[in-house]
Amino acid sequence: MSDLPNCTECNSEFTYQDQGRYMCPECGHEWDESSEQVDGPQAKDVNGKVLCDGDSISVIKDLKVKGSSSVVKVGTKVKSIRIVDGDHNIDCKIDGIGPMKLKSEFVKKA
Ligand SMILES: [Zn+2]
Repeated sequence: MSDLPNCTECNSEFTYQDQGRYMCPECGHEWDESSEQVDGPQAKDVNGKVLCDGDSISVIKDLKVKGSSSVVKVGTKVKSIRIVDGDHNIDCKIDGIGPMKLKSEFVKKA
C-alpha cells in the first residue's frame, strides 16, 4: 500500500485508489493518476521479454485453432504481431491459417 502517493491537498498517507483515481478519506480530495501510465497494452513472452507491435515471434507449443481442425505447430514463425488487450493479447496473421489471436505465454520472441 506504500506505493500510493500522499494526498496532494492534506498530505494524508491514507489514500486509496478507485477506478484509476486517487482518493483521500481524510479531506475528501480526489485526483487523477498522473504517473505510471502504461503506454498501451503490454505483453510478455514465455521468457518474460516484452513484446512490441511489429515483432516476430515463434510458437512454443501446438495450438488448436478455435472453430477449425487446424493446428498452429510448435516452431511456427509469426511476423508483424500486434499487441492487444485481453486474454489473448497477440493479434497476428499466420501463413496458411489466417488472422488469429495468441496468448503471449505460448510464444517466444524470435
Ligand atoms: Zn487529503
